[in-house]
Amino acid sequence: MLCDFHIHTSFSGDSDTPPEKQIEQAICLGMERICITDHHDYDVTSFCNFELDIPAYLAAMKTLKEQYQDKIQIEIGIELGLQRHINDYLETLTKQFHFDYIIGSSHFIDGLDPYEPAFYENRPETEAYRRFFQISMERIQAMDCFDSYGHLDYVVRYGPTKNSMYRPSDYEEYIDAILKTLIQRGKALECNTGGFRYGLGHPNPCEDILRRYRQLGGELITIGSDAHTPDYLGYEFNLAAKLLKECGFRFYTVYHNRQPEFLPL
Ligand SMILES: [Zn+2]
Ligand SMILES: [Zn+2]
Repeated sequence: MLCDFHIHTSFSGDSDTPPEKQIEQAICLGMERICITDHHDYDVTSFCNFELDIPAYLAAMKTLKEQYQDKIQIEIGIELGLQRHINDYLETLTKQFHFDYIIGSSHFIDGLDPYEPAFYENRPETEAYRRFFQISMERIQAMDCFDSYGHLDYVVRYGPTKNSMYRPSDYEEYIDAILKTLIQRGKALECNTGGFRYGLGHPNPCEDILRRYRQLGGELITIGSDAHTPDYLGYEFNLAAKLLKECGFRFYTVYHNRQPEFLPL
């Protein structure tokens, strides 16, 4: 099975799954390589603590990497919550600590989590989505501390009507700017199959955006399930591979020492 490069464990505030359970599930599924990418969202207010104890995390991951080295290759990653006002902090952090792979994600917008109903209060859903894409674009244009941009349209998992009225073309000015910036900077776009888990019937981002990225010249595509529990590891990866091929991709990208490597779909 394709390598899962977006996996959470109990080091993330929103997962109770011991890392060993995720690793053993990946071995069971026949994955040759995975990357664990626990959450680190700095300076946010939320229902749970999304700040990672990075030294403890790295020490545990190094031990696991050695422990399982004969069975699976484990890359050590992190999912950073991007916010422009913490750019210097994130730049320092990514120089201070060694990671194989860094996902940059937009989890909080104007101090609010799109997961919370408050994000949609007093405005139409399309305006909430527009704000999400606008802030995402501004972050990607201003920040450099990541390798792949995570779940680009994940806001549609949580809106009042989710993705039933969602047309990416309504937000084209922001989405095109995001894709062009990623391509110019040599950064990857993530195909996150969590969208299937949320019942969207599509990955995040949806096929229209994946296809547009390819049309614009984008080649670096990473694949992740965003699993917080073992049952969703590698979720719908065969379908994702099929969709990506239909969008014009022949390879997907994995990372080691923050350098991309290409594997066939
Ligand atoms: Zn995320
Ligand atoms: Zn995640």
